[in-house]
Amino acid sequence: MRQKNSKNILKFDKRLAFVALSLLTILLIIFLTSFFRATPSYHELNGFTLGTYCRIVVSSKKNSKVLAEIIFNELDRVYKKYNPNDPASVVSRINGSTDWIDVDEETFVLLDVSIRFSKITNGAFDPALGNLIQLWGFDKIAEKVPDRIPTLDEINRALQRSGVDKVELDHQRRRVRLLNGVKLDLGGIAKGYALDRAYQVAKEVDKDCTGFVEAGGDIRILGPKFGSRPWVIGVRDPRKPDAAISYLYLTSGAVATSGDYERYFELNGIRYHHILNPKTGFPAKGAISVTIVADNAVTADALSTAGFVMGQDWEFVVLEFPKFGGSVLMVEEDGTIRKSSTMVVYEQPK
Ligand code: AMP
Ligand code: MG
Repeated sequence: MRQKNSKNILKFDKRLAFVALSLLTILLIIFLTSFFRATPSYHELNGFTLGTYCRIVVSSKKNSKVLAEIIFNELDRVYKKYNPNDPASVVSRINGSTDWIDVDEETFVLLDVSIRFSKITNGAFDPALGNLIQLWGFDKIAEKVPDRIPTLDEINRALQRSGVDKVELDHQRRRVRLLNGVKLDLGGIAKGYALDRAYQVAKEVDKDCTGFVEAGGDIRILGPKFGSRPWVIGVRDPRKPDAAISYLYLTSGAVATSGDYERYFELNGIRYHHILNPKTGFPAKGAISVTIVADNAVTADALSTAGFVMGQDWEFVVLEFPKFGGSVLMVEEDGTIRKSSTMVVYEQPK
C-alpha cells in the first residue's frame, strides 16, 4: 500500500516537472518574441528645408524610407507656399496686393490662427511684421550680414506699415486684404505648421508609425520610441551650443525654442537678433531663449516667439501661457531660468 503511494507521488512529481518545463518554455518563447518585436528599426532622413536643417526619424510597418520622404516633401511644400522671399509663394501674392485676395482654405486657416495667437499674446506675436523684418535685413541675413542698424525714423515708418491690426480677413468670402502697405511674415509660425502637417501626413500613411520630425531644433513627436519609451530632448544652453540646460521626456506633442542665437548680427559689441518687438520695432529684450512644450507644433512655435517678445514680463509668460496650452522654460538675459509649474512634468524621466 505504502509502495503504491510513493509510486504515485513519483508519477505526480514527474508530471509536475513536465508541466513546469513546458510553461517555462512557453514563457521563454513569449519573452523572446516580444523582445524582438519591441525593437523596430528607425529610418533617418536629413535634409535642408524651411530655411534650416531638418531631421526625420521614423519607424513604420509600411516602408519607413518612403514615409520619411513623404514627410520631407510635406515640410518643403509648406515652406515654399509660405516663404515671403519666394515670388511664387502665396505670401508673396498677398503681400503684392493692396486689394482683397482670394485664398485657399489652408492659408485662410493659418492666417486666422496666426491672428488668434496675436490676440491672446497681446500683440507680442505678430504675423504682419514683413516691412520691419526687411528693414533690419533679417529676411536676407543668410546672404548678407547687415552693416548698420536702421535709424529711428526708418523704424517708425516701418512700424506704420506693420501690424496685425492692418490685416483684414473676410470669413464669408475666404479672402484677405492688407492695409497701409503691410506685409505678412509667417516665420514665427510656419515651421510649427509644417511640423504639424508632417505629423498629419505621416499618420494618414500609417497611424501606428513612431519617431519624430525636427526642423531647426523644433520637434514634433510622431510616436514613442520603440512604441513605449519617451524621446529625450535636450534644451540647448543659449550661450553654450553643445551644453544642455534641461532634458525633456516626450512621447507625444511638440517642442519649440526661440533664441537670440538663431539669427543675429553684431555691431559694436551689441547683438541684434531676429525676433522683433512689434511695439518698439527693435529686437525684443528680456529673454535669450524660450522653450515651449505643447500638444501641437503650431502652438509651441507661436508661443515660443511670443514668449520671447514678452521676455521682460516673464510672470505673464510663465503663468498665462499654460492656459493657452504651452508649458514654458525661459532663460532671461542674466541667465535666470524661469519655468511654468507644468514644465516640470516633462523633465521627469518616465
Ligand atoms: P521663431 O524662431 O519661431 O521665434 O521665429 C522667428 C521668426 O519669426 C523671425 O525670423 C521672423 O521671420 C518672425 N518674427 C520676428 N518677430 C516676430 C514677432 N514679434 N511675431 C511673429 N513673428 C516674428
Ligand atoms: Mg516661433
